[in-house]
Amino acid sequence: MKRPPVFALIDCNNFFVSCERLFRPDLEGRPVVVLSSNDGCAVSRSSEAKEIGIPMGAPAFKYRELFDRHGVVQFSANFELYGNISRRITSLLTSITPRIEIYSVDESFLDLSQLPITDYEAWGREIRQLIFDWVGIPVSIGIAPTKTLAKLANLRAKKDQSLDGVLSFIKNRDNREAYAVHDVIKTWQHMALSPIGDIWGVGWRFAPKLRGEGISNALALAQSSPRLAQQLMGIHGRQLVAELNGTSCYPLEVEGKLPKSISVTRTFGQDTTDSEVVEAAIASFATRGAFKLRRSRQMTSRVSIFTTTSKHKPGYASWSRQVIFQQPTADTELLIKTLTGLFRDIYSPGIMYHRAGILLHDFVPDDQLQTDLLGTVDTNRHDIARDRMAAVDAINNKFGSHKIRYAAEDLRRDWTPQRKIRSPRYVSHWEDLPLLRPILPK
Ligand SMILES: [Mg+2]
Repeated sequence: MKRPPVFALIDCNNFFVSCERLFRPDLEGRPVVVLSSNDGCAVSRSSEAKEIGIPMGAPAFKYRELFDRHGVVQFSANFELYGNISRRITSLLTSITPRIEIYSVDESFLDLSQLPITDYEAWGREIRQLIFDWVGIPVSIGIAPTKTLAKLANLRAKKDQSLDGVLSFIKNRDNREAYAVHDVIKTWQHMALSPIGDIWGVGWRFAPKLRGEGISNALALAQSSPRLAQQLMGIHGRQLVAELNGTSCYPLEVEGKLPKSISVTRTFGQDTTDSEVVEAAIASFATRGAFKLRRSRQMTSRVSIFTTTSKHKPGYASWSRQVIFQQPTADTELLIKTLTGLFRDIYSPGIMYHRAGILLHDFVPDDQLQTDLLGTVDTNRHDIARDRMAAVDAINNKFGSHKIRYAAEDLRRDWTPQRKIRSPRYVSHWEDLPLLRPILPK
């Protein structure tokens, strides 16, 4: 029997801050923020930091005084640590069910329909405790017959302290019905408490339009006509109304979607006029982008670069250039040559470069190199490059990601973003391993 879907959304609370607290238990109960690259903006905040009025994305320099007054503890983002903790949670969840969609670094959807669960809320509390005991990260869990409702339940579980981090819109499956009357009533109560802007897929773009029509919360949207929703938000609006009414339109995406484009961009640690510094940055971006491209088993046919000066300084300007390849490639060497060449075309001395990036697009699968009648496609060159890159990737996978690299990346490292207050890489570098000191009796 095909069972109707049951989705659980498991979302880590204040994920980056929670990772920092894992190794610094003294930070429990204190306001903590994690800052983005170059220590610019708050990208994760503890609940104490939210309470004193630090908004998401708050620029650190504007909030310096507030930080000082409340003794806010600040960290530079430590992505190695967060990635590692994230993988631990994912592997724990995968052991519960292989029907998992990793939605972001701190969020996963699970399909529970095939699991023998009699009480979904009790199951949620068990899993929440399990993740906390094994990994140490607090999570919130929302369970519902659609992804949109699971998101909404999750948000309610976070906001309403009395729910203790778990909310299910489905009680059990004993009655064989996916969505019983008492479930619907409970869902409506929580939808009435969910502002329209908080609904997954509404956001800042559609919220004002919907409010203009008198639709101010999730329940009002669920009860509005699908036609009106479609007029306001396109086909997505119609699907959203169905999802809020318990009809699943968005299936679980178990196989990660292949990327359609890959971009790597950074703001430099310091603005620079030096072409070598920018070239080294672009070579590093090209290396990273090409690696991601090969990992997705694709090749690129069109690449571009951009550079900008600082928006905060007078005379802001930006430049970009692109190239189309006759023959698609995933060869780091060729990409570095092409992209740094594009930069040399637009470089002019005296410009203070602040930010740069590369974009790879128009992908084809890496086993589908089309030959052509004109003979412009050089299959021999393609095969040599493919074998060389496979060897480089194999060595780097085995011995660490930067064991073999292109000299162009190393010309000058002055561009690397600053992370002045990064915590130790507790779980990825031997020299940063935390030490346990036995407490000896006096
Ligand atoms: Mg989260």
